Amino acid sequence: MGKDILILGAGVSGVLAAYMLGRAGHRVRVVDRQEAAAMECSFANGGQLSYSHAEPWANPAVFPKVFKWMFDDDAPLVMRFSTDPQMIRWGLQFLWNCRGSAAHRNSRALMKLGLHSKQVMQEIVAETGIEFHHGHKGILHVFSSQKCFDDAQEQVRFQAELGCEEQVLSAAECVAKEPALAQSTKKLFGGVFAPIDEMGDVHLFTQNLAQYCTETFGVEFLYHHEIMALNAENNRITHVVTNQGNLAADAFVLALGAYSPLLSKPLGIHLPIYPMKGYSITFNANDNMPALSVTDDALKIVYTRLGDKMRCAGTAEFAGYNTSLSQKRINPILRGIRTLFPQADLSETSEWACLRPSTPDGPPIVGKTSIENLFLNTGHGTLGWTQGAATADLLCSVMQEEHPRIDLTGLTLDRYA
Ligand SMILES: Cc1cc2nc3c(=O)[nH]c(=O)nc-3n(C[C@H](O)[C@H](O)[C@H](O)COP(=O)(O)OP(=O)(O)OC[C@H]3O[C@@H](n4cnc5c(N)ncnc54)[C@H](O)[C@@H]3O)c2cc1C
Repeated sequence: MGKDILILGAGVSGVLAAYMLGRAGHRVRVVDRQEAAAMECSFANGGQLSYSHAEPWANPAVFPKVFKWMFDDDAPLVMRFSTDPQMIRWGLQFLWNCRGSAAHRNSRALMKLGLHSKQVMQEIVAETGIEFHHGHKGILHVFSSQKCFDDAQEQVRFQAELGCEEQVLSAAECVAKEPALAQSTKKLFGGVFAPIDEMGDVHLFTQNLAQYCTETFGVEFLYHHEIMALNAENNRITHVVTNQGNLAADAFVLALGAYSPLLSKPLGIHLPIYPMKGYSITFNANDNMPALSVTDDALKIVYTRLGDKMRCAGTAEFAGYNTSLSQKRINPILRGIRTLFPQADLSETSEWACLRPSTPDGPPIVGKTSIENLFLNTGHGTLGWTQGAATADLLCSVMQEEHPRIDLTGLTLDRYA
């Protein structure tokens, strides 16, 4: 007998959860404040399905840079001194996770999730046949310093032990693989190519999957509903309070991205998720743009071709819940494009900023909470498009009390206990 399930949030995490739970025979509703699915963090991201990317932001190489980057507006990650207790707690946890042993543990969790996500994504695409400019050519990471290239090779060796094969390439081999790199005005020291990686438009995917869920499983999407609170009695959620009235259900899934901790906190559930602001620029692709998805590792800027558009995304900034566009943070991305691909046509651009739901250790948070009928599918940070398929699959197993297809160690809320 299916349950009545209410999913809070219609981003990629919420809609993938709706797909899995609808497919399993539950009566699913998804509630969101926007007018459609994927209008916030799942709107215009970097487009990379980077299953091989298992290096968390918190790692030993980043630790000494964090302090230097605080005073550099062009830095890939900008943490500022803050009096916000949530930010201070998160920042300390982040620094603690920069230890080598923690980074290895978190890498292992990210890798098992990435490899599982690739498989689940293949199953979803085969079953639904939905269109989202899906590309299978792999992702090429390029390095503009010998030190970064050397560090990357160490990570390649570590990831090979975890079952992820990547290729280390010379600068000339990078250009042979992606001829558009020949125009780069900065010196490249080499690259790492991940053949298992893919790319695609997260917005198109999520909207098409939402439509598929409605047509195939009868999933109902309740838009223009601002969720104000979750009401708990006897350790169960009875209903959520919205600006359009109360919504009751048997079980609830929290998939509100960066806003998840705001709604869980009054229930005594402290989610270590903090908004990490990122930017993207979309412009018309011309013949000189790369066909492969490329990551400029030093700047942490990604380039992905989505149909006739180029999407370029990056930067991580801690600015609380402020989603405004800051030209100061857009400029480094524009400079990055002009340096790596100077023949890009930037005559028409559209800029976007949004908040990644970031955990201090890297992996997302999936599964049970201390409240019996409240479940989590959130905290995906920089990899929500990549790992959303895997976490939705795991969430569905947990909610149905089935054995998950991969071990949940390092992915659940109790890792912070
Ligand atoms: C610049 C940038 C580039 C990125 N590039 C990549 C990439 O290349 N590959 C990758 O894997 N990931 C990437 N990411 C990360 C990825 O986009 C996110 O991890 C993912 O979109 C998070 O999805 P979500 O569903 O958890 O959150 P969201 O998409 O934000 O969904 C949460 C939903 O909850 C709703 N909501 C929130 N609060 C309320 C409320 N109170 N009431 C009602 N509704 C509410 C919102 O409207 C929203 O629809 C990038 C992110 C950014 C910012």
